Amino acid sequence: MENRNRKVNRVVLVGTGAVGCSYAYSMINQGVAEELVLIDVNEAKAEGEAMDLNHGIPFAPSPINVWSGSYQDCATADLIVITAGLAQKPGETRLQLVEKNTKIFKEIVKNIMASGFDGIFLVATNPVDILTYVTWKESGLPKERVIGSGTVLDSARLRFQLGKHFNMDTRNVHAYIIGEHGDTELPVWSRASVGVERLEELAASNGELHKDSLEQIFVNVRDAAYHIIDRKGATFYGIGMSLVRITKAILNNENCILTVSSYLDGQYGQQDVFIGVPAVINRGGIREVLEIQLNEKETEQFNHSVKVLKETMKPVL
Ligand code: NAD
Repeated sequence: MENRNRKVNRVVLVGTGAVGCSYAYSMINQGVAEELVLIDVNEAKAEGEAMDLNHGIPFAPSPINVWSGSYQDCATADLIVITAGLAQKPGETRLQLVEKNTKIFKEIVKNIMASGFDGIFLVATNPVDILTYVTWKESGLPKERVIGSGTVLDSARLRFQLGKHFNMDTRNVHAYIIGEHGDTELPVWSRASVGVERLEELAASNGELHKDSLEQIFVNVRDAAYHIIDRKGATFYGIGMSLVRITKAILNNENCILTVSSYLDGQYGQQDVFIGVPAVINRGGIREVLEIQLNEKETEQFNHSVKVLKETMKPVL
């Protein structure tokens, strides 16, 4: 019999492929939780990964118990991270994955909920906004406790590129990509800053050349996954670390702002969709969705992104 009053954090990872294992490896190296359970349809793979990861624990910053488990281990989990499913093939869009991964998710979420799980879901599998919606629907949990990785990785990619461009530490760059994690996402330049300066003012003071560079930076960010997949077949380190960042925000009750995939219930004039927007994250999940004042062009782009998601979702729900 498990003790529900335990004071340790248990995270269950479903899907021990490239993304899942990058997450697990970063979790151990950053000392984020006390328990990490690995589940995969390929049981031997989950078992092998647990064995391998355990051999690094003597060098981890804090103790952690890692094992390959079953859905019964979800009963007392604080957080379940899902990275299971099929990945994008070269040339394939995230949205083309929707049918196959929706089917896989319905099964996984059913198994998790049968354990009595009552914590928070964090979804990374693509198309992430749609699969976060599927997780919410299938689980019956409150919308605040179902979170998608959304555009956290895209915003990180943007901050990295801007940091390089302006020769400034990435941690001093604040910039948001919002919308679908995919082809219709958009940057919110009006709210971006580099150090103590607003990005638009900085770009204007540096002339038109910088404005063109900003557009090119965004295109590189938006298409980054395609460029990486062309070269190495998949992307996994960046998303692994993004998922750890979200995990820390939840388990440490940080109240920090991240562009996660959140349920919109009137915000941005939109209803009944999960999409990447800045939100405050804490131990309860999504404390609140923050509404950025978008200009006309940005509003149009954001509405288009919602439309594309809703249309893609229709046949599978
Ligand atoms: P992968 O093929 O390496 O791993 C997927 C794993 O899921 C495999 O180990 C497989 O056995 C497991 N799996 C499949 N069906 C399962 C089921 N029913 N139950 C349990 N486990 C199951 O793929 P990957 O490279 O790790 O990518 C995983 C997902 O993450 C893909 O959908 C990919 O597109 C997505 N991804 C998302 C982002 C993001 O920013 N959100 C970034 C990169 C990748």
